[in-house]
Amino acid sequence: MNKRSMTRIVCTIGPASAEPAVIRRLIENGLSIARLNFSHGTHDFHREVICNVRAIAKEMGAYVGILQDLQGPKIRLGNLPEEGIALASGQRVILKNSLNYENGILPVVYPNLHREVAAGEAILLSDGVIELDVVSIVGDDVICKTLNGGQVFSHKGVNLPSSNLSVSSFSEKDRQDLIMGLEEQVDFVALSFVRSSDDLTGVKDLINQAEAKPRLIAKIEKPQAVKNIQSILKSVDAVMVARGDLGVEVPLEQVPIIQKEIIAAARTAGKEVILATQMLLSMVSSVRPTRGEVSDVANAVLDGADALMLSDESASGQFPVEACAMLAKIAQATEPHASKNLPQIVDPKNSLALAVGRAACSLANDADASAIIAYTHSGYTAQAVAQFRPGCPIIALTPKESSCRKLTLSWGVTPISTDRVLDNMEELVEAARREAKKTGLVKEGDRIVLTSGLPKGATGGTSLVRLLWI
Ligand code: PEP
Repeated sequence: MNKRSMTRIVCTIGPASAEPAVIRRLIENGLSIARLNFSHGTHDFHREVICNVRAIAKEMGAYVGILQDLQGPKIRLGNLPEEGIALASGQRVILKNSLNYENGILPVVYPNLHREVAAGEAILLSDGVIELDVVSIVGDDVICKTLNGGQVFSHKGVNLPSSNLSVSSFSEKDRQDLIMGLEEQVDFVALSFVRSSDDLTGVKDLINQAEAKPRLIAKIEKPQAVKNIQSILKSVDAVMVARGDLGVEVPLEQVPIIQKEIIAAARTAGKEVILATQMLLSMVSSVRPTRGEVSDVANAVLDGADALMLSDESASGQFPVEACAMLAKIAQATEPHASKNLPQIVDPKNSLALAVGRAACSLANDADASAIIAYTHSGYTAQAVAQFRPGCPIIALTPKESSCRKLTLSWGVTPISTDRVLDNMEELVEAARREAKKTGLVKEGDRIVLTSGLPKGATGGTSLVRLLWI
C-alpha cells in the first residue's frame, strides 16, 4: 500500500468504483471511508458495496469505514432518459411533480412544487449549473424559462433558494434507508440539508434504538445551518461542508469564507470536519487536475480539515483511482506545512480525556517520538489525541472492531484491533511496543508515547501518558 496521508480520504462509491477490483485499488491508494449516497442506487446495490468493501478491507488488513449519506429534505429530479435531457438557454420548460420524464415535462419529486413556488423565483438544477426562472403556474405545471442551459440527468438536485418550503427534514425514504443502514451496521450516518439541531431528532431517535450506533454527521449546505452551526456542532460527532448545495443556496463567492469558518468552528468544538464536493472535478474526465483544484485541496488541508471527499470523481468519473491517489498525494505534500497553531478545542479542561490527549501530543513532540499509541475502547482516547495534531502518527489499539472502523475519520489515526481486552499495565506496554513495530512506523531505538484509560478503558476515562523506548 502507498504511504497514507494524515488527512483522511472519503470516496463516494458509484458505478465507476463499485467493482471489487476498483475498491481494492482505492484502498491501496488511500481510501479511508466509502461513502454511499442514498440519493442514488438501490438497497441491494448499497448492501453489495458494503459487503465488498468490508471483505476486501479485511483481506488487505485495513479498516475502511462505511458512511451512509441520507438524502434528507433534498428535492430531486425524477427518472430521465439515460443520456439526459438538453436544455437550451432561452428555452421554455415545464416542471411537474412526477417520477418519470413524459411528454417533454421534467419530473420533480416534490408534491408541493406548484403550491410553494411563485412566478419570478429561481429554480436551480444540477448544483446550480442550470438556472430557470419561474414564469407562471398553470394547474400543477410550473412553467419556466431557461436562463442558463445545459444537460440534466436523473435524480440531480433541485434547489429553490428563494422559496419557503414545507418539506420535512427526515422523510419516510430517509427512515427506511437508515433502518437498512443500521441493519448493516454502517459506521457513519450523514443527514443532508440540516437547518437546525432539531432536524437531527428523527435520525438520533432511530440511532439510539440501534445496537451498533454509527457516528452522526450533519451536512452543512443551507444558510440556516451556517447560522446555527454552534448548536448543530453540539448535537453531532462531525460536520461535512457540502459545497455542492452550499454553493447554490448561498452566493457562490461566499463559500470559501464560510468553509474556513465552519472548519474553525468544528475544530474549536472538538468535532471532526469533512470538506466535500468538486475537489478534483476535472478528474471526472481528465487524468490530471487543474492547478486551481490542487490549490483548493491544499488549502483545505492547511485550514485543518480532517477529511477530504470525492463525489462524482470516484462515483461516476473515468479516473476514480487516480483521483483518490491525487487527493492523498496533495494532502501528503501539504501536511508538513500546516500551521502548528490551527484553531483548537477551546477548553480541554471540560474533558479530562482531551487534557490528557493534549499532554500526550506535547510529550510526543518534545521527546521527538515516532508514534503515539492510544489504547481505547470507544475510540475516544485516539480522537482526543488527533484533535491536537501531533507531529507523528497515532496508532489506536482497540479490542473493538467497530471502534477501529469509526476511527477511520480521525486525522492521522491508524486503527489496530487487539484480539482481547488489555487490562493490566505490563500487557499494555508489551502490546504497544509490539504493535507499533508491526506497523513499520517505528523502529528499534525509537521513542513512543503511550496513552490510555487504564484500568477500565471507559469512554472519557483517559488517564495515562507514558514515554516508552522500543
Ligand atoms: C453536496 O451538496 O456538496 C453534497 C455532498 O451532497 P450531495 O452529493 O448529496 O448533493
